[in-house]
This record gives sequence, structure tokens and C-alpha cells, in this order.
Amino acid sequence: VNVRLIVLGESPPHLGATVAAALPRPFFGREATQGALPVSRCYDASRAQVDASLLLDELPDPRPGWVHIAITAADLFVPPLAYVFGLSALGAGKGVVSWARLRVGEWDESASAATTRRLVVETVHELGHTVGLIHCVVPDCAMHRSLWPEAVDLKQPAFCPACLDSLHAQIGAVSRMA
Ligand SMILES: [Zn+2]
Ligand SMILES: [Zn+2]
Repeated sequence: VNVRLIVLGESPPHLGATVAAALPRPFFGREATQGALPVSRCYDASRAQVDASLLLDELPDPRPGWVHIAITAADLFVPPLAYVFGLSALGAGKGVVSWARLRVGEWDESASAATTRRLVVETVHELGHTVGLIHCVVPDCAMHRSLWPEAVDLKQPAFCPACLDSLHAQIGAVSRMA
């Protein structure tokens, strides 16, 4: 599955390329483009946050065999949750991920490594959703649901064997439909 990462707005240089290079198979980070989506249209001034569902709607639909993931610095929410690290259209090949809550300190060398690792884990999580995976009970599986930034550190940027099996089944089903 080819993954196009679309990095929105103000982000550290090479962030998209770093995340793209760290994605586990069967995902291949093919492109990390600096994208222009109308994020301001999705901004909720009363919450000072971006509506993740609206942002997801703004993402262009991927062509077959591709997944689109937008990476943003904007703080995302989905009612009734106070915030989310990301959101995906289940099985629809599109997702958004935010590093607003995942950030560890400033973007100096050590903090950026810690922040990038969290961002990779949550990107892998959303990628799983984009191809139809649901949440997993295995604590260190990328598909385990994390409610706090520190909980993301307990996960691996990879799928447990059961999720990987399910992932291959989902991808197989999609390619048979094509
Ligand atoms: Zn999830
Ligand atoms: Zn799992």
C-alpha cells in the first residue's frame, strides 16, 4: 500500500520524509509533500481547535492502491472528545494525524526524536484504520487505543500478528474488488 503523506502548514523540515521512511510494511511511504488544505475552514474558534472530521473531508480521495494521510500541527477534536491524535475514514484510505498533543518539549534533537516516534506510531495507527482495522487489545500494538500522549510511548510503530493477519486479509479483499 503506497502512502502519500501530506504535511500541512508549519512543520519541522524533513518531518514527512522521516515518518515516511519509518512506516512498516505493507505500507510504503512514497511521498511526503507539503500540502495546502483549507485548514482554516475547519477551525472552530470557540474551541480554538480544528474539527478532524471536516479536515478529513478536505483530503483528496486516493487512487486505488494508495492511502492519503495528512499530518498537521493543528490540535484536532471530534465531538464529544476533548481532543484526538488522529482520525480516519474506516477502510476509505484517508486519515489525518496531529502532533499537537504528541509533542515532547521543543523541536531540539532529543525531543524531536521522541515526538517523531509518537507521530510514527499514531500514523501507523491511522493507516490501520484507513484499510479497515479496528482497535486492538494488545498493549504494544499500534492499533491499541491511546488516550494520553505518554500511552503512545508504550506502543510499537508496528502491528501485532493478529492485526497483521487482518491487515493482509483486508488488503486482499480490496485488491480483489478492483
Ligand atoms: Zn483508533
Ligand atoms: Zn493488534
